[in-house]
Amino acid sequence: ASLRLMPDFSLLQKQIEESNSISIIVHRKPDGDAMGSALAFWKFLKDNSKKATVIAPTDYPENLYWLPGNDEVLEFGKQKEEVIKALEDSDIIACLDFNALGRVEELQEFVESSNAYKIMVDHHRQPDDFADWMYSDIEASSTCELIYDVITELGGEIDYDIAVNLYVGILTDTGSFQYSATRPKVHRIAAELLEKGVRPELTHDLIYNSFRKNELQFIGYCLDRRMRLIEKDSIAYMALSMDDIQRFHVGTGGTEGLVNYPMKIKTVKMSVLFKQDRDRIKISFRSKGEVDVNKIAREHFNGGGHFNASGGAWFGTLEEAVERFVNIFN
Ligand code: 5GP
Ligand code: MN
Repeated sequence: ASLRLMPDFSLLQKQIEESNSISIIVHRKPDGDAMGSALAFWKFLKDNSKKATVIAPTDYPENLYWLPGNDEVLEFGKQKEEVIKALEDSDIIACLDFNALGRVEELQEFVESSNAYKIMVDHHRQPDDFADWMYSDIEASSTCELIYDVITELGGEIDYDIAVNLYVGILTDTGSFQYSATRPKVHRIAAELLEKGVRPELTHDLIYNSFRKNELQFIGYCLDRRMRLIEKDSIAYMALSMDDIQRFHVGTGGTEGLVNYPMKIKTVKMSVLFKQDRDRIKISFRSKGEVDVNKIAREHFNGGGHFNASGGAWFGTLEEAVERFVNIFN
């Protein structure tokens, strides 16, 4: 696939105009960019008198519950029938912030068997070819940046609800404007979102200062007891068992951001988090500079993502996952 496919926005406009019902789906365990982009697009469609539904395959962190429109999100795990009905009724399915259908878990079969027109808006590497209309740009900071383009290209108005949703996705996916994808365009968009009334200090506070006491203590525990440094302290990893997680009663979101902390060590160029989930070991990768973690996630852990931030899964034990990782360097 090419780096950047500039799509035909007038074709998208026509498809939307002719549609009656649109489902917007995001990846499992959606993050700020997934939910922000979905809710921004949803509000744009609603403003244009379209029937639209945001569908999350699984639960997601509570620090996103305040996003405008969140109350109307359907969660597949909790509302299976409503979700299936929404998908069956849809003539468009918009896939935001993911580029491989395996990322939507059990929703995959419903999307694949649907005759709906499929849209993909995403910024991850190596997109699969399942969409009829695709806006994929791996240089984009976030899916929210691309949804901003979509809304403005389609002549939509950015109101406060759209602005704050887009801001959250840009904020979280750029690591608060620190990553290299934070191009001048990103700040220009952010400036416009502030002009629409987004309050940066309040948004930051709602997103990042939302821990319960036990969740912060859990981070302390992980860094103290679980962090290992290898390869001359250039690689840090943490392996968390179900016991570790249950001891501190942290839910979905309790490990969000944890993988970033070891990057604060000057020598560390890659940080990896292994986390035991119900049916898999979930793995998160972060890196600096020329270290390609998309490649590691793809080649060894059924995953992918970005050059400096990726994820994957291991279907086996925690020890096997760690061993497989450590062996890459031996
Ligand atoms: P996180 O570590 O925050 O879960 O994910 C980091 C990046 O990798 C995100 O952009 C996310 O969408 C992507 N990612 C996480 N898990 C997976 C996975 O299992 N497969 C693929 N293809 N991408 C993933
Ligand atoms: Mn994203």
